[in-house]
Amino acid sequence: MDYNIFMIFAEKLYKTLPAGIIEKLQPKIMSVVSRRLHTVEKSINYIDINVVDHCNLKCKYCANFCPLVNEKFLDVAEFDKDCERLSSLSNGKIKTIRLLGGEPLLHPSLIEIMAVTRKHFPLSGIDLVTNGIVLLKMPMAFWTQCNQSVVRVAISHYPIHLNYTKIKSIAKEYGVKTEYGKKPRGMYKWLLDINGCQDIKESHSYCIRAAQCAVLQEGKIYACSLPPWIRYFNDYFGKDLKVNGFDYIDIYKVKKFEEILEFMGKPIPFCRYCNTKEIVYSNAWEISKKEITEWI
Ligand code: SF4
Ligand code: SF4
Repeated sequence: MDYNIFMIFAEKLYKTLPAGIIEKLQPKIMSVVSRRLHTVEKSINYIDINVVDHCNLKCKYCANFCPLVNEKFLDVAEFDKDCERLSSLSNGKIKTIRLLGGEPLLHPSLIEIMAVTRKHFPLSGIDLVTNGIVLLKMPMAFWTQCNQSVVRVAISHYPIHLNYTKIKSIAKEYGVKTEYGKKPRGMYKWLLDINGCQDIKESHSYCIRAAQCAVLQEGKIYACSLPPWIRYFNDYFGKDLKVNGFDYIDIYKVKKFEEILEFMGKPIPFCRYCNTKEIVYSNAWEISKKEITEWI
């Protein structure tokens, strides 16, 4: 089954099944099917790029620990170099690049970042994933670049005021596609086991993040978005959840794209910190109080 067809199918399931059943089914279905698609299709469905690590919304349970981050912006020159390398390794076999964060609209060089992404990935989809808060303040040049680089603006739906009608009308004027869910989704609370006592194979087998949200960061590919951003959790709460050289793959050391695909389908040492079996997927949205219980 093609990944996009699977996602349409999954979306329909979300809308029709009661929340309790989805909670039980989602982790297993998503993880098994997505990983199988990776190995069968020999391509990566999503590569996520954190354009900015901090955010102007600071949601409780944020999976990337953004409420704990003061300020961190992507280095454009380094990103250009990494994209060039990944593009040459993958030969275009990356379906979608997601520019996200934190809140990507806060990066002062976002226009350049979109252009660089399109330069190296001419055939991939590019999604700019935003909470939309500052979209109506973006300059004309932003919308023009979205059009030129064929970037789709995917707005995450949170229960905050957003004039989507106006946003959609501006986007239409510039020929830019947008996406906005009909209703806000529940927030999932990732359950970290700070003692690292989980069975890595079992954690991985229940994980919805495994191989679905691969991250490119500072010359490395991570199969999920947890190890690259755990530094913010560690720094803020004085913990020491360790990331080691087996938790990522260095794009400058691998010789073939297949090595990355193989790496992405397997558990990593860091899985010992994830209690994926007990995760609750539909928590009510609220602003973070930066308490450790939001993540453990
Ligand atoms: S808007 Fe998204 S990135 Fe920002 S804090 Fe909320 S969940 Fe995290
Ligand atoms: S470390 Fe393993 S279990 Fe945890 S989110 Fe990543 S892939 Fe999933």
